Amino acid sequence: MIKRQPLRMCVCCRERDEQRNLMRFVVSDGEVVPDPTGRAPGRGAYVCGKPECLEAVLKKRRLGQALKAGQGEAVEKAIAALQQAKE
Ligand SMILES: [Zn+2]
Repeated sequence: MIKRQPLRMCVCCRERDEQRNLMRFVVSDGEVVPDPTGRAPGRGAYVCGKPECLEAVLKKRRLGQALKAGQGEAVEKAIAALQQAKE
């Protein structure tokens, strides 16, 4: 039997992938914060690990737009960590 994984969509490229391949972000106190556990309550948005998507989050504030919340330092740090992990 094939076990189906839930698919999540990247807010930048809109491609769908298994949840474990994307990074989840949620809104906490009006600001977008990373959710490394993927289990925080509330509305979430996902970003895949592609360099152009990480760039778009930083330069075009895609997570802030998607979640209609402030996008600040917490997101920048999380994205920077993802970028470093890819190098
Ligand atoms: Zn993407």
